[in-house]
Amino acid sequence: MKILNTRSEISEYLLQLKKEGQSIGFVPTMGALHQGHLSLIALAKERCDVVVCSIFVNPTQFNDPKDLEKYPRPIAQDITQLQAAACDVLFLPEIGEMYAPNEQWHLHLDGLDELLEGLHRPGHYQGVTQIVHKLFACVQPDLAFFGQKDYQQFQVIQKMVDKLALPVTLVMCPIIRERDGLAMSSRNIHLSAHERKNALALYQSLQLVKNGLGQKSLAALKQEAITFLQHSPGVELGYFEICAATDLTNNQPADDMSIVALVAAQVGQTRLIDNMVLN
Ligand code: AMP
Repeated sequence: MKILNTRSEISEYLLQLKKEGQSIGFVPTMGALHQGHLSLIALAKERCDVVVCSIFVNPTQFNDPKDLEKYPRPIAQDITQLQAAACDVLFLPEIGEMYAPNEQWHLHLDGLDELLEGLHRPGHYQGVTQIVHKLFACVQPDLAFFGQKDYQQFQVIQKMVDKLALPVTLVMCPIIRERDGLAMSSRNIHLSAHERKNALALYQSLQLVKNGLGQKSLAALKQEAITFLQHSPGVELGYFEICAATDLTNNQPADDMSIVALVAAQVGQTRLIDNMVLN
């Protein structure tokens, strides 16, 4: 696996491969890799000639400095995992390589960045689009792979791609879960054994809604999920919403629409998110 640290190095290296006619698949991450990330690498390998992964803990998408500070960074272990997954290129830049001091960025996202996660984390999706735009510019991938785990993030990045007419196709990859259903996340390592059990309530609330679909109204199912989470020990509910799968600004989807349920909750010191496409 080639490890490159600067924008010019990676641009030049990939340009050469593109000239030879090779397709580029890109998997951006913040590291602390788990099976969820590795499933994206595997899907990228199936569809592209060259797979590029980036590891960069992006400061502009954190609105809590403590959260940024305690974000796990097991880089040696990540490199070993990427090598085992036969990833071709790792882009591993320092902060100064990606940002000039006091850089400004704002992209109008039609309100998509201001609801759900965006409500709780103001500016988060501006930071996400800022870094993904920069990464796309130096990698110039044909396909970019993102997890359904961050459902709203996928929609936000798709919005950016559409608005700026970026020449890349996004691929949404399924959520990889632990055996008991907990969605894998780099943040799960912060959970104590007790919190780990409590965290299962997020997945259970989504299943509750999925199982009741067609028998009760969406409003009733949403209320059931909220009540369930409010009574789950050690879980502090952020939000539980049911939205149109293709338009998260629509939280009153019609019966014939594809819908998604999205949940966020605090478990101990750790904030967790999960979602399920319901039909
Ligand atoms: P992160 O390192 O958290 O920024 O995640 C990098 C990419 O991995 C994003 O596209 C995430 O949606 C994806 N990802 C994270 N967790 C999972 C998971 N459990 N299953 C599938 N994809 C995931």
